[in-house]
Amino acid sequence: MAQLELKNIKKTFDHTTVLEDVNVTVNDSEFVVLVGPSGSGKSTILRVIAGLENPSEGEICLDGKKINKLLPKDRDIAMVFQNYALYPHMSVKDNLAFPLKMLKLSSDQIDKNVNETAELLGISQHLLKKPRDLSGGERQRVALGRAIIRKPKLFLMDEPLSNLDAKLRTQMRTELLKLHSSLNATVIYVTHDQIEALTMGHRIVVLNHGRVQQIDTPHNIYHNPGNAFVAGFIGNPGVNFFDAKISSKNNISVGKQSFSVNIPENIYNFMLKKNCLNKDILLGVRPEHLALCDLDIGIVLNGKVDLVEMLGNEYLIYATFHEHVNKRCCIKLNSLLNVKQGTAIKCSIDLKYAHFFDKESGVLIS
Ligand code: ADP
Ligand code: MG
Repeated sequence: MAQLELKNIKKTFDHTTVLEDVNVTVNDSEFVVLVGPSGSGKSTILRVIAGLENPSEGEICLDGKKINKLLPKDRDIAMVFQNYALYPHMSVKDNLAFPLKMLKLSSDQIDKNVNETAELLGISQHLLKKPRDLSGGERQRVALGRAIIRKPKLFLMDEPLSNLDAKLRTQMRTELLKLHSSLNATVIYVTHDQIEALTMGHRIVVLNHGRVQQIDTPHNIYHNPGNAFVAGFIGNPGVNFFDAKISSKNNISVGKQSFSVNIPENIYNFMLKKNCLNKDILLGVRPEHLALCDLDIGIVLNGKVDLVEMLGNEYLIYATFHEHVNKRCCIKLNSLLNVKQGTAIKCSIDLKYAHFFDKESGVLIS
C-alpha cells in the first residue's frame, strides 16, 4: 500500500541527460504502466525509484516522505526484472524463502509465507524443484513470488514478461492483473510493448527521449493522443499522418490535392482560435478510420495496395497515395473483404475521426 511521487526528476550520465522534468504520481493500489521505445529512460526511472541510481535533480516521495537519501534496502520496494535471477542451486522453496531469511523471520513464519505465496502463484507443486526443472513461465512466477513474499509497499516490474513466448505472455498478463487485485498493491510496470500497456494499465505514462509525453487512461491515450509521438507510437500500427492545411470553412488540402468539403464546425472554430488556418498541420487518422470507397465524395485519396497482411479477423493493407503523401499508409479492414496486392484503391477520410497536430511541434490542436 503506497503512493509514489516523482517531482521534477532529472538524470544525467556524463553530461548526457536521459531523464528531464519527470513528474508522475502513482496512487495507492494503482497499476501504472511506463511505456516508450527502447532507450527512452524507462529502466532508469525504475532504478531511480528503487535507489539504484541517484537522480541528478528532483524528489522521490513515498507516502509523502522524501526517500532520496534512503538506501535501496530501506525503501520497502521490490523489483522484478526481465532476467529473473533465481539461485540455480536452491530449490523453489529456498528461492522464495531467501528474502525472508534476510529479514530474519522465524522458520514457522517463513514456511507459512512460502506456502501462501506458492499457492497464490500456482507453483505449490514445484516447491522442491530446482529452477532448471521449471518452464520459463514457472520460473517467472517464482521470481514474482520472491518479490511479493515480503509484502513490500511498492512493486517495480521491468519488462518481466518479455522473455516469455507470445501465448504465455498473454496468459501471464491476466495473471499479473489478478495478482495485483488480490494483493491490492501499487505497481509500476515497464514495457516497450504498447499492447501490454493498453491491456494492463489503469493509467499509462508514455515516455520518449527521457520526457513524459502523456499520462492518461488507456482509453484516452488511444483515442485522444496528446501529441504526434503518442499517436504514432500507440496502436498497432499507429496513426497515419498526412500533411494538410485548412484554408476555409469548406476547404482542406491533403498533400497536393485540395478538397471542397464542409469542415466540422468545432474543428473549424478551433483552427480559427488557434491561428491554425492556412498553417501546415498534420492530419492523423487511425488505420481503422481509413475506409475504402468507390466514389469521389468528400476527402478521397487514390492509392495502390503494396502489401496485404492477414491477421485473422482483419487485414492490414499497406498502400501508397502518391498524389497525397510519400509515406506508406496502413488501413485496417475486415478480412472477409477481397483486397489484392497491386490493385488501385480509393480511401476516404472522415474528419470526425481525425486528429490534428501542429506540424512543427507535433502538439495536438484541439
Ligand atoms: P529503456 O529502459 O527505456 O530502454 P534506459 O533507461 O535503460 O532505457 O536508458 C536510457 C538512456 O540512458 C539510454 O540512452 C542509455 O544508454 C542511458 N544509460 C542508462 N544507464 C546508463 C549508465 N549507467 N551510464 C550511461 N548511460 C546510461
Ligand atoms: Mg529498459
